Amino acid sequence: MSLIVQKYGGSSVADAESIKRVAKRIVETKKAGNEVVVAVSAMGDTTDDLLDLAREVAPLPDPRELDMLLTTGERISMALLAMAIKSMGFDARSYTGSQAGMITDSRHGSARIVDVTPGRVREALDEGAVAIVAGFQGFNRDSRDITTLGRGGSDTTAVALAAALGAEVCEILTDVDGVFTADPRVVPRAHKLDRVTSEEMLELAAAGSKVLHIRAVEYARRHDVALHVRSSFNNTEGTWVVSRSENMEEPIITGVAGDLGEAKITVVGVPDVPGKAADIFTIVAKTGANIDMIVQNVSAAATGLTDISFTLPKPDAEKVLAALRVEQTEVGFASLQYDDQIGKLSVVGGGMRTSAGVSAQLFTALSEAGINIEMISTSEIRISVVTRADSLNEAMRVVHTAFGLDGEAEAVVYAGTGR
Ligand code: ADP
Ligand code: ASP
Ligand code: MG
Repeated sequence: MSLIVQKYGGSSVADAESIKRVAKRIVETKKAGNEVVVAVSAMGDTTDDLLDLAREVAPLPDPRELDMLLTTGERISMALLAMAIKSMGFDARSYTGSQAGMITDSRHGSARIVDVTPGRVREALDEGAVAIVAGFQGFNRDSRDITTLGRGGSDTTAVALAAALGAEVCEILTDVDGVFTADPRVVPRAHKLDRVTSEEMLELAAAGSKVLHIRAVEYARRHDVALHVRSSFNNTEGTWVVSRSENMEEPIITGVAGDLGEAKITVVGVPDVPGKAADIFTIVAKTGANIDMIVQNVSAAATGLTDISFTLPKPDAEKVLAALRVEQTEVGFASLQYDDQIGKLSVVGGGMRTSAGVSAQLFTALSEAGINIEMISTSEIRISVVTRADSLNEAMRVVHTAFGLDGEAEAVVYAGTGR
């Protein structure tokens, strides 16, 4: 008998009908002779709605209480799913993250898994039941508090359970047929990839493709979990996330990703002398913010002053601006500029390592479409550029076409608001 872990995302369990449909699919998997463990997300946009509610009562909600609140979303879906399965005559038991042994560190809102002790899940399987585990949540042993793994974290719950239980496969069931060459909501001609290397998937996830939680990809790679992203709305084969060692020629460009979640801060009028960048980024580092791109302009000869710009996740911007303001006189810069109307476009492909001219092709495509590039950064298998936020979607479509990625038919998105 093989053990399968299935993760159902919020759009797949958005209402009672969907929960019954998912219950049926779980029962079919069970009837096919498998042991089934399910990680489930909150219904539809529940997590976003709860976040909105929290912000209505407190501008900066207390992190411990926010985790308490947000984890209720998954409690609802797990219990409903277990009920639905039971009413079909099959045994099922739901477990919170802490009951299922998802032990994390204490960082509320972005906790990391430190141990997985799924004793109760194993017992339920041994007794012939389907185990349903609330995604996205864990428990910290020291504080004895409930934690969450960060937005999109149910994917990571599923992979961690698959690793701990030695599952044959971890299926991520969602509202599209798999991993596409771009977000099909933005690029209708995107096509499904049969496979993607974990290395490329990590870059795509980091660049904003939210189809998989980046930590789920990392975890799967580290623990050798077979990861299959597919639709919960049909039975077609989806996308397998594979290791790079396989004997395949990698395409130059595998996919295009867009990210509207970052903002740009420019430190204006920095004295162009050694140590200033160190000063600025030490201040930034102390806030715990994650910096992405950095650009330093050539200093104006007349003034000996330069500007340093960097991008970071929007939610981190306020604390970074505040920290820099406090040290303004000490560091000696003139002013700060904040711009939250940027978009980041990335092209990713393992074959980039061995081909020349990818940047030229990317920049040409953007310039022909009249889209201005404000910042550039690269890794071995990725090139990212910053554009105006309102031209990002068009930029993605143009670049997708320029690299010959357009499929023959329009991609199908089965559900969800994409929120
Ligand atoms: P779930 O609720 O199942 O967790 P998510 O909304 O987190 O689903 O992720 C699925 C969505 O990811 C798709 O509906 C799609 O809009 C988006 N997406 C972004 N980039 C990609 C991509 N490269 N391939 C497929 N989907 C993508
Ligand atoms: N419900 C959580 C979220 O919306 C976790 C998840 O869906 O993966 O982020
Ligand atoms: Mg998701």
